[in-house]
Amino acid sequence: MNSPVAAGTALVDRFGRVATDLRVSLTDRCNLRCSYCMPAEGLPWLPAPHLLTDAEVIRLITVAVRQLGVTEVRFTGGEPLLRPGLPAIVAAAAALRPRPTLSLTTNGIGLARTATALRDAGLDRVNVSLDTVDADRFAALTRRRRHHDVLAGLAAAREAGLRPVKINSVLLRGVNDDEAPALLRFALANSYELRFIEQMPLDAQHGWDRARMVTATEILAALRAEFTLLPDPAPRGGAPAETWLVAGGDGLRVGVIGSVTRPFCGGCDRTRLTADGQVRACLFATEESDLRGALRAGADDEELARRWRAAMAGKRAGHGIDDPSFLQPSRPMSAIGG
Ligand code: SAM
Repeated sequence: MNSPVAAGTALVDRFGRVATDLRVSLTDRCNLRCSYCMPAEGLPWLPAPHLLTDAEVIRLITVAVRQLGVTEVRFTGGEPLLRPGLPAIVAAAAALRPRPTLSLTTNGIGLARTATALRDAGLDRVNVSLDTVDADRFAALTRRRRHHDVLAGLAAAREAGLRPVKINSVLLRGVNDDEAPALLRFALANSYELRFIEQMPLDAQHGWDRARMVTATEILAALRAEFTLLPDPAPRGGAPAETWLVAGGDGLRVGVIGSVTRPFCGGCDRTRLTADGQVRACLFATEESDLRGALRAGADDEELARRWRAAMAGKRAGHGIDDPSFLQPSRPMSAIGG
C-alpha cells in the first residue's frame, strides 16, 4: 500500500524502502517455552517500569500512523494475549484515521476466550503459531501441555471471522520435520492458511545451526510429494512468504517464509517497536533507538517521529546471516517481537 503521508515524512531508508508495516511487541513474556525460542526456565523478563504503558503504546502507534505513514499494525511478543490492555490498545488503534489494518501473532492460548472481544475491538486478522498436529509432540516442543488450547483458539478465531486465520509453523530437524504434509492437511481441513517459517538465529540459547536447519526447499519438496502447488496469481508485495494455491484446496494457500535461504530484505517494509519502547529497523539489527526515554522526557510527536525516521534511515541492506561477520542480536526473538 502506498504511504498516505506527505513525501519526506515517511519511514524511508537509504535504499529507498518505505516501512509501512509496524510490529509492536506488547510483552517479552510467554506462557510456552518452545525449545527453539527460550530455555525451560524462561528468561530475565523486562522489569515492569521499563515496559511502555498502554497509553505510551497507543501514543507511539498514533505517531506511526498519523505522521509516518504506517498502514498495518501487528501486535506480537512474547505472547501478546498476556497483556491485559490488549483489547483497549486494539480499540484505540482501530479508531485512528487513516485506519490501519490490525493483526495479532499469538500462540493461541486464551484466544478461545478473547477472539470475539478482540474482533469487536477492531482486530482484523490473526496468525497462530502451531508447529505440530500431535499433542504429545506439542508438549515436548513447547514444554507445556496446551495443544488443545491452541486448537480451540484457532477455531474461535475462525468463528469470530478473523479471517484468513493463518498458522505459522517452524520445522525442526529430528523433532517435527516430517510434519509438513500433516500440518497442511490439518490446515486445509479447517480452512486455515499455513505458513512455514525457516528457523532463524534468534534463540536465547544460541542453539541455531545452519547445517541442521530445515530449508524452504526441503519443505516444498515434502509438500509436493503429497500436494500439487499451483502458482499464486496474487502479487507478493512486501510479504515475507512465497505462496502457492493448493490444488483442490478450496482457494487456500500455503506459504514458505525462507528468511535464511531465500531472504526478502529488498522488499522489507517493516519497522519494529519493542515492549520497552525501542525502535528496531530489522529483526537482526544490532542497534536500537530509544523512544521510551524520549517520550518520558517530554518529547512532542514531531520529535518522536523525527527519531523514528532517523532510526529507520540507517536500516541495513540485508540481515547478513550469511556474512562471516554476522552477529546474532543480543535480544532473542521473544524480546524483539516475532
Ligand atoms: N507468542 C506469539 C506466537 O507464538 O506467535 C508471538 C511471538 S513468537 C516469537 C512469533 C513467531 O516466531 C512464532 O511463530 C514462533 O514460532 C516464531 N519463532 C520463534 N523463534 C524463532 C526462530 N528462532 N526462528 C523462526 N521463528 C521463530
